[in-house]
Amino acid sequence: MTDLKKIIQNAAASHELSAEQIIAVLKDDSINDFLFSAADKVREKYVGDEVHLRGLIEFSNICKCSCKYCGIRKENTSVQRYRMTEQEILSLAQYAKEYGYKTIVLQSGEDSFFSKEKMVSIIKKIKDMGFALTLSIGEKTYEEYKAYKDAGADRYLLRIETTDKNLYQKMHPDMSFENRINCLKNLKKLGYETGTGCLVGLPEQSIESLAHDILFFKELDADMIGLGPFIPAPDTPLAEENGGTLTIALKVMALTRLLLPDINIPATTAMETLEPDGRLKALQSGANVVMPNVTDKSCKQKYTIYPGKAGLNNTPEAYKLSITSKIKSIGRKISNNYGFRNKF
Ligand code: SAH
Repeated sequence: MTDLKKIIQNAAASHELSAEQIIAVLKDDSINDFLFSAADKVREKYVGDEVHLRGLIEFSNICKCSCKYCGIRKENTSVQRYRMTEQEILSLAQYAKEYGYKTIVLQSGEDSFFSKEKMVSIIKKIKDMGFALTLSIGEKTYEEYKAYKDAGADRYLLRIETTDKNLYQKMHPDMSFENRINCLKNLKKLGYETGTGCLVGLPEQSIESLAHDILFFKELDADMIGLGPFIPAPDTPLAEENGGTLTIALKVMALTRLLLPDINIPATTAMETLEPDGRLKALQSGANVVMPNVTDKSCKQKYTIYPGKAGLNNTPEAYKLSITSKIKSIGRKISNNYGFRNKF
């Protein structure tokens, strides 16, 4: 067995890797299949064969941020903006209930219209419907995060995007890296199941910094990691740049599974966007969650964080059927429970 294979095999048992070891694995593509299969086994051992489906509602694409990679950044005037009413959000949640989803994920741009009071009202009503609830609505104050938690929100997704501070500042000219870290610490402190993650393949992103991203996930003891390839979006400053590949995104994901064996890891839409069966590959390389979009078609088509998003023409019903049969076709089951992290 080669040295790299031994490193991967040891990590599958010890859940530890040094930055140098991660870099060596990321740089060598001859061991990819070995890495994916090791992550798949760790996934099976710790979180089993069940796949958790989380119903995603993209409730507003209005955003005050200028993230250079993002298609719904505020400068992009070619986006048709929308904002759902509370009633529209709740009726989508009702559909999600009928599809059997146990979790609702509420995601949006950073839209100040949704004040603390408005969010609290939506959160309470979704919780009353019997869902676990994940929020993905960006940077807020400690008081706001606390109010959402007190109202019943269970989980929060806030990707660090990159741990390379210089690159972070370049990508988010009007934001602060320290504040992002602080938000993640606050979420942990408040008892949220905290999710983070990164973009893979950003311009000027080094392999070394991806290794640090992975170690950061471990250091934070993240409960969920969502990551995907950067996909250049039209009408953004990065429109003409190269994007990330599915392979490197899967490698970062698989290494994350080796280091954090018991967490929830989604097979993300960005992965499916680059290859028709990207999600299935992800589910066989460490992932155990899928987030089917339950947003109605006209809004979903306007939530253009990147182009060509997989599933834009599917109805939520058709998607539920197709993902269920795909998951079963690889010998996996659809979970019936809320899918919280069971910490080992
Ligand atoms: N406003 C929320 C939700 C952002 S959208 C927040 O700040 O958390 C969710 C994720 O989409 C982002 O965290 C980012 O990692 C990803 N994303 C944005 N633009 C992208 C692009 N061009 N390619 C791939 N992923 C992108």
